[in-house]
Amino acid sequence: MPDLRFSSSPPQHTEIPRAKRAEGQWSLGYTEPLNKNEQSKKDDDPLNVRDRILYTYSKRGFASIDPADLRGRFRWMGLYTQRAPGFDGGKTAMLEEEELDDEYFMLRVRSDGRLLDHRAVRALGQIGVDFARDTADVTDRENIQYHWIRIEDVPDIWQRLDDAGLSSLEACGDSPRPFLGSPVAGVAKDEIIDGTRALEEIFDRYIGDPAFSNLPRKFKTALTGHPSHDVCPETNDISFVGTVHPEHGPGFDLWVGGGLSTNPMLAQRMGVWIPLDEVADTWAGVASIFRDYGYRRLRSRARLKFLVADWGIEKFREVLEKEYLGRELVSCPSPASPVGHRDHIGVHEQKDGKRYIGVAPTAGRVSGTLLVQLADLIEEFGIAGARLTPYQKIVLIGVETDVVDQVLDRLDAIGLSGRPSQWRRNTMACTGIEFCKLAIVDTKERARALVGELEKRFPDLDTPITVNVNGCPNACARTQVADIGLKGQLVMADGEQVEGFQVHLGGATGLGANFGRKLRAHKVTSAGLDDYITTVVGNFLADREPEERFA
Ligand code: SF4
Repeated sequence: MPDLRFSSSPPQHTEIPRAKRAEGQWSLGYTEPLNKNEQSKKDDDPLNVRDRILYTYSKRGFASIDPADLRGRFRWMGLYTQRAPGFDGGKTAMLEEEELDDEYFMLRVRSDGRLLDHRAVRALGQIGVDFARDTADVTDRENIQYHWIRIEDVPDIWQRLDDAGLSSLEACGDSPRPFLGSPVAGVAKDEIIDGTRALEEIFDRYIGDPAFSNLPRKFKTALTGHPSHDVCPETNDISFVGTVHPEHGPGFDLWVGGGLSTNPMLAQRMGVWIPLDEVADTWAGVASIFRDYGYRRLRSRARLKFLVADWGIEKFREVLEKEYLGRELVSCPSPASPVGHRDHIGVHEQKDGKRYIGVAPTAGRVSGTLLVQLADLIEEFGIAGARLTPYQKIVLIGVETDVVDQVLDRLDAIGLSGRPSQWRRNTMACTGIEFCKLAIVDTKERARALVGELEKRFPDLDTPITVNVNGCPNACARTQVADIGLKGQLVMADGEQVEGFQVHLGGATGLGANFGRKLRAHKVTSAGLDDYITTVVGNFLADREPEERFA
């Protein structure tokens, strides 16, 4: 098998696929950059920007930053410039992204499915308090995301993260983005297999490795051994999904080619079974295919899903086996369908008799102060720690049974409910116009107000209805797989353009995964959103059959 970690040039091929038109695939010899992003990565490995931040930019200030680093390579360190105040959605469409730059940064810290003990949670909270104007959001990629970060403070922040065993390395950029791991790995009673060790191995071997720091674009990984498929494997570039092979036992079913944005595609099963010990090598093989064969001409085609769609899953498997792994993989019959709710909200028994408790901030919004309070609670009650979820939630792991009620009361008191309404439980929102330069509309505050209003209008809702609020077509909060998916755009009202949403209805993941239907007539102003959802949900509740779900 080739040493994938240090391959500086593509391997020799058993069969070279012929492209209809050059799309910048390295393996076909197109190594000359075809756009400015590719040129920037070729000019200098983005990982090198770390030292410039530590030893130059943080000392000399924002004005000293090379624009190619600021708008390109900084992302590999989890840093984006945030949106300058004063630009509404209408102006966004008319300006170049750099014209919206503020001198402050958004910083993403990856958790990769790790258990965060009280020290790590406290470190994350205190960074928010000391350096980020008390911001700290839980994202749907299990990150903590800060705002208002000054370049001068980045070395101190990184030192604190390092001390807590955390990192922002490759949290953005054309790189292996933060992994989604099962929030209940190693503790759930119904777990098929604990994949914690495999995710740690991928991180230790490949994050920060120059062999994977110049991918065509982002590369998203998910891994779970839980029967609910609790990491949204349908929408990731590569997913390892726990399954039991009839002869070989517990392992992982391999899925590839999922992704949303403007050309949504669900991941496809490759039909192979991967044992725990071979997950990291298999991950490197798939990431290498993306690096070597992935399309680099157009950013809009530079995701693995387009390659998988063009090749088909059989060819993808053949290339993985022959060119990258050097052996055949074990075929895997269809795995069991996902069972149970994926968000782990509420109190659940662990395999060791303790409890885990899933709690719901509203639309992922927490704060540095709240995380410090959570760290105090974790320490005081001797709780093992917390994990973040792909649904912008937090799960406390290892709660002694005799303190569960006390812990729930204390969580309620700090604004983290373990007994949330269906609306709070099932609403997510992306960053939106408050900080994101690509946003057209507000999302976080809109989602918070929406949840409050729907809790009043439907206080006894007895069925989950997911609402995903997105500030633009990029679908960071998974527009297309929600019961009610909202894509931010400007809409006309009384002859004026105002903030609003294109509605996608009836999307789903898990059993019966599909994309919501986008109906031309279903555009709604942001101001009219409460009434729109009230009408749609009211009609559904009036007409539904027993046990019928919204999707
Ligand atoms: Fe920004 Fe659009 Fe992503 Fe929301 S969906 S975070 S507005 S890029």
